[in-house]
This record gives sequence, C-alpha cells and structure tokens, in this order.
Amino acid sequence: MLRLVKLAGAVVVVMTASAFGFKEWKSGIEWPEPKVVDPGDAETPPSDAIVLFDGEDLSQWHNGTRWEIRDGYAISKMASITTKEKFGDCQLHLEFATPAEVKSQGQGRGNSGVYLMNRYEVQILDSYENATYHDGQCASIYKQYPPLVNACRKPGEWQTYDILFEAPRFDEHGSLTRPGYMTVLQNGVVVQNRTELLGGTSYIAPPKYTKHSDKEPISLQFHGNPVRFRNIWLRPLEARQPEYPTEG
Ligand code: MG
Repeated sequence: MLRLVKLAGAVVVVMTASAFGFKEWKSGIEWPEPKVVDPGDAETPPSDAIVLFDGEDLSQWHNGTRWEIRDGYAISKMASITTKEKFGDCQLHLEFATPAEVKSQGQGRGNSGVYLMNRYEVQILDSYENATYHDGQCASIYKQYPPLVNACRKPGEWQTYDILFEAPRFDEHGSLTRPGYMTVLQNGVVVQNRTELLGGTSYIAPPKYTKHSDKEPISLQFHGNPVRFRNIWLRPLEARQPEYPTEG
C-alpha cells in the first residue's frame, strides 16, 4: 500500500510493508504495560530505586556509624558495612574513589570490595598502574575471573560500578540448580559480561557454593584503606511475568 504523508510541509510517499508483499508479524502475547520509570540523570537515581546512600548518612547499613561521612561521601573505616535490608536479583549502582595519595602496592593499595549476598565479591582496588594477580585486580570476581579490560581511573578520581546480579538458585536439599551470574560495567565499560559465578569468593579457599536464602545483604569491605563511596542505589529485579511462552 502507498500512503501520502505530510511531513514538514512536504508530501512524502511512505511505502508500508504490504507494498512489498510483506505481512507484519506480531507476537500476539498480551504483555502487561511496562511501568514508567523516571531514569534521573548522572547524579540522581531512577525513580524506582532503593537509595542505600545519598551522601547524608549510612543508617541503612549495619556498622554505618563507624564510617566517616564528609561532603556527600562516605570513607571506609574500622569495619565492613552491611545493608539491613536483603536483596536477590538486582541492579546495583555505586561510585567509589581509591585514595589520591598512593601508598603501598598490589592488594594493599585502595582495597575494598562489593559483596553481593554478602559472599560474592567484585573487587575494588587501585589497579591504575599497580600490578597484582589478575583475578584479584579491580573489577575482578575475586579469585575467579579477571575483568575483561582494566578500565580504572587514576587514584583519587571517582569511578562507577553498575552491577547486574542474578542470584544462584538452590533446591530444598541445598543443591545448586542454577549458578549466579554477574555483569559489571566500570566507568561505563563492560568488565564482566554475565560471568558465571563459581561459588562464594574467599581469600583462603577455592570458590564453593553453600546454600543460602533467596535474599541476602550487600556489604562493602573495609580492608584497611580509606576508600570513598557515594551515590549508592539498587533496583530489585523481578523475573519477567508472564515469561515468554515456549512450545511443548
Ligand atoms: Mg577487596
């Protein structure tokens, strides 16, 4: 079919699919309308996010009072902090900066970490011109996988992590039925691409899965270095409903 469309004062001939002998295909699935979310901007979270730290206080974290808060950011001190709320599959955003003053080297330089479910660590480290074992450098899944690339900014500069986390699934007997997965963007660069987790990350033992709840807290590591954090928010991710119908 040919259609005449008036566009900016000019009449344009638009050829629809049927003019080429095509018939449009549609899935026919009655999808629910996606919820409207205000995406915010670089400094503000999406409208449906759970804000875990907005620069004011760490009241949503156990041990939060042990960290110093100054000028809209928190400085890691004395102990790791752990969310009071528990989460499963999620999108997590946070910003961090390793110390501007470079001290020490390897794992002793700007070390912290983001633990999903309190046991799966995305390493935070000053890996700007700082050699260490690759599955322990910044943006590694600690002692499991190095990052795909080293996208670190210089010491003292703010960096972003955007983490998509899929929690592992266990049956009632404690057996793993589906591993966990992690996608990580560091400063907008993909550094983990749906990486399959091999189990909990540990300093002293190989990775191993141990059954845990569907939802567990998130923690930020204190590893002796004053790493700064700001703008921490999370969006729980529910499974799509209904799921895409499969034949048979
Ligand atoms: Mg660490």
